[in-house]
Parts: sequence; structure tokens; C-alpha cells
Amino acid sequence: MTAHACRICSSPDHDLVLDFGDVVLADAFLPSAAAIAGEQRYPLTLVICRQCFHLQIKEVLDPKLLFSEYVWETGIPASIRRYCHEFADAVLGRAAGSATPSIFEIASNDGTMLKEFRSRGCDVIGVDPARNIAQKANAAGIPTVADFFGERVARDLLARHGQWDIVIARNVLAHVADLHGLVAGLRLLLATEGTAVIEVPHLLNMYRELQYDQVFHEHAGYHSLDSIVRLCGMHELVVFDVEHLWIHGGTIRAYVAHAAAGRQPAVAVAQVLAEEEATGILGLVAWKQFGERARTQKRLLRAELSSVRAAGKMVVGYGASAKGQSMIQFCELDEQLVRYVADKSTMKIGKLTPGSHIPIVSPERMRADPVNVVLVFAWNFAQEILEQESALRARGAQFLHPIPEPHYL
Ligand SMILES: [Zn+2]
Repeated sequence: MTAHACRICSSPDHDLVLDFGDVVLADAFLPSAAAIAGEQRYPLTLVICRQCFHLQIKEVLDPKLLFSEYVWETGIPASIRRYCHEFADAVLGRAAGSATPSIFEIASNDGTMLKEFRSRGCDVIGVDPARNIAQKANAAGIPTVADFFGERVARDLLARHGQWDIVIARNVLAHVADLHGLVAGLRLLLATEGTAVIEVPHLLNMYRELQYDQVFHEHAGYHSLDSIVRLCGMHELVVFDVEHLWIHGGTIRAYVAHAAAGRQPAVAVAQVLAEEEATGILGLVAWKQFGERARTQKRLLRAELSSVRAAGKMVVGYGASAKGQSMIQFCELDEQLVRYVADKSTMKIGKLTPGSHIPIVSPERMRADPVNVVLVFAWNFAQEILEQESALRARGAQFLHPIPEPHYL
């Protein structure tokens, strides 16, 4: 396989979709201005495979660089807790066999999801590469192996614990460069009649809503249902059902079984595949346009921010998420245009944003300031932010949603 080969079909032929230039890793928040001199930049390029139309970034960085001290924790927003409850309902409703199936989760983070299943009487175990977060999960009583999941870890777990009724892989397919290693490992651990659940941000929403800010080094690939079906098929696995969800700006949840189990696919599978085909995301033209749309959005956003700043207004950002850093760097925003970024995470407050060096402050600080415009980087939590900041809004602050073109909420 050549360095830039498609991670699904191995073809070396690709087209450029979007070039971000040299950017700092989206999670590399700086503890202080003194750390700026040591910042590392890496090229970031979104490309599409000319053979199977899989979207991926060209660059492969050492995963240890990306994930060993991951700062995002699932425990934070209230909407995440609701999501975990609904997830367990949906998955237990579709699993064949036991009412309390055994659960294995790949990239289990701080164990928030596994806690939900354990409270329902299921045996659980997780694996996560971020040592600090795996430790936290273990301390909270959720058994978690601190490692990168793949075939090697799967064989080790198989020898020690056997197979699992349900294998969960939420928002992890996007993070791995070795897709075939991940799926082969998942297959090893999945019981003959078991169900695997794969969730990914849906490429269809990324395309429609111009979510180019989902593109950063931690996300190696961007998946359609078509790409999941293709990948699973190469490992004798089938997608037998699919659901659309609101999380992460639009997600698909694919239910996967061993092909040998003979589960009949639900009609939803063919429907989503047909929708993907109809919008053009399984082709080259739509993605050429996507690149043009992103460059236009950058121009419009910069023009709007420059104009409100020229009028003497105070502009701040909300949500120091990784994807916010991707947009900030792509649009070349800085402290002149966005005074600071407010965020609830105590792991981020007091730090500077990577590459752009904008200070991160608490939401309390934002509420105490005469803010005129709040640029919502965490647009997937826009509704929650509007409700939470209703007092700021009542004082006349406007909330600017950046995509697919900048608009006030
Ligand atoms: Zn391909």
C-alpha cells in the first residue's frame, strides 16, 4: 500500500477536496504564551478516493501524538447523558438473545456509556488509548484497558474474556488509520449471533451542512453508510439496520452482524444508501463543489466579523472544541477578530487555542462582559447554548452560527 492509498480499497488515485495548509493539531491547547514557540504544524489535506469515493485525510500521524492524553470527556454536556440512555434502549431493543447481554466498547472514553449498560445489569469492559481517561474510568469502577484497539488487542482480550454479545464502536472509525485492523478485531470479539454497533458522523450531513470543521488530524476518515457497508463486506460482516441521529451534527448508527448469522437487512439500509447516491456524495463533482463552498464560507465569515469589529462591537466565540480549532485555523481567525473563546471545560479554561492563540475563558467571564456577538463554534450544541445563555441574549447579544453560511440565530 502506498503512503496515500485509500484506507478502504487501497487505490492510490485520489482528488483533492480541501487543503487546510499547515495547521496545529486541533487538541493541542497551549498552557501559556511561552509554549507558542514550541508549536508543531502539520499539513492537512482532505482527499477523495477515485475508485470507491471514500473521503479521508492524506496525512497519517503517529496515533500516540493524537490520542494518548485526549482531553474531550463524554461526561460533560447534559445532552450526552440523554444520548447514552437512548443508545442503551435502542441497542438492547435490537440485540438478539439475553436481556442483559455482555458489552464490549472500543474507545470507551471515561466509561460514561458503559456505566449506563452496567446500571441495567450487563457485564461491561472497555478499551481506550488515552491513559489519563482510562485511569479515571477504572477508578470509577468501569474496567478499561488503556491501549489502541486493533487485532493484537482483540486477540489478547479474546483469550482472556472470550466473545461479546454486543460490540460498540461509537465515533471511532473516523479516528483510526488502520480501518481493516479495527474491523478485523471487532469481528474476532463479536459472538456468532452478536450485534456490533458502529456510529460515525454521517458524511451526508457533513456535505449538506458544509461541516468542513469535522476535518482535523484526529479524524482520518469521513464515512457514508456506503463506505461502512463496503468495509464490513470485506470482513464477512453485514449492516442489517441503520438509524439517523442528531448527535455530532448528524450521525448514522449502523447495526452489524456476522454474514453467516443470516440477518435480513431492514429497508432503512437501502433507503439511506439510495439517499447518499441521490445527493452525489458517492462521486467526485459534489466534493469539488464542497471545497469551493468552504472557501466562500471563509470569505463571508471573515467579512462579517471584520464588519462588526469595525463597528466597535465585542465578538467572542463559544465552545473550544477540536472542530472549532479546525474552523479557526482554516478561516485564519485570531484575537483581533475573536477576543476569546468561552468553554465550560476546566481542562481548557486558562489555555490558548492551538495555532491561533486565542485565550479560553469560563462562560461566567463571558456573561460579565459587554458581549455583542457570540460566534458558536460548538454549533452541534447551538440549542443548548442558546438556552443556557438566555440572559446574555436578553441583553442584546447576537449568536452567529458559522455554517453552511454564517447566519444569526
Ligand atoms: Zn477507495
